[in-house]
Amino acid sequence: MRVAIVSTGGTIDMVPGPSGFRIDESDPAPGRPPEGAVPSGYETEQFRLFALPSPHMTPSRMAELCRFLGGLAASGRFDGIVVTHGTDTLEESAFLADVSLGCSCPVVFTAAMRSSSELGVDGPRNLRGAILTATCPEFRNFGVAVVLNDEIHAAGRVTKTYTSNVSSFASPGYGPLGFVDEDRVFLVNRPCWRLELPPGELSLDERVGLVRTAAGLGARELRFCRESGDRAVVLEAFGRGNVPPDVADEVGESVRHGMLVAVVSRCYVGRVLGVYGYPGGGSDLASRGAMLAGDMHGHKLRLFLMAALGAGLDREAVSALLERL
Ligand code: ASP
Repeated sequence: MRVAIVSTGGTIDMVPGPSGFRIDESDPAPGRPPEGAVPSGYETEQFRLFALPSPHMTPSRMAELCRFLGGLAASGRFDGIVVTHGTDTLEESAFLADVSLGCSCPVVFTAAMRSSSELGVDGPRNLRGAILTATCPEFRNFGVAVVLNDEIHAAGRVTKTYTSNVSSFASPGYGPLGFVDEDRVFLVNRPCWRLELPPGELSLDERVGLVRTAAGLGARELRFCRESGDRAVVLEAFGRGNVPPDVADEVGESVRHGMLVAVVSRCYVGRVLGVYGYPGGGSDLASRGAMLAGDMHGHKLRLFLMAALGAGLDREAVSALLERL
């Protein structure tokens, strides 16, 4: 089995420094797999694309990563591809890869919650689990997955739930796709993912904002997006997709200015739906031209809209895609 390992940085690549963990730039062989991480009989080839803490990843770097992965997959040289990444924004990079790659070479993201110098280091074990998953024959056509702590998660569902615990990555409301147990991979669920981009070179239009509501908060922030020239905004509403009345007025104003406004919930689990007709209720927002975007995570939907606008999709085409959620 031949596996490409693409490193981008993150704690898995970090060492302690005088003021906290940092990437070791003096490492003579950056990205080399740690002892014991590669199962016997496997050959790996390392690529270091970035050496960044993942809060330094940007949408354009994520798009560059996706294009790089597409090139590796198209080369036909690998049975699977593993990406190592910082945990903070891993779910965003993995999601963008999932909706844009559309290739049959399996891609698995992994990371570490603890650096190699800490007690109970998790990076080598996670990398091994990711390699085994990416090369598991049943895993082909499962889309992009994220493997940490012996669990396999769908990129569209997974999220970092805990700041520090090794069991941080979970798919609330959906559960994992499967498990890694020593040298075996057990798949127990199929990803039922409904979003994909039209085929073509990934390019992002980054003029997409993200606004989270709180009691009495959101109208000023939405106005800021509109006045800054955003073409679209994701609104993280309350519960089933409801917002304060002045936020609803600003939604209407944004739509009149030609912006796409996509509504998700700030709840961890569940779909938005227009069941409330009062000013600011989900049904009111829909009648003002907002699109209700099902059970998407706001930060992932933002990337999806960047890619959809970058692909030249118009309002109707985006709305048709979001209706599947
Ligand atoms: N802050 C680090 C990063 O995302 C955390 C990690 O890698 O786990 O790069």
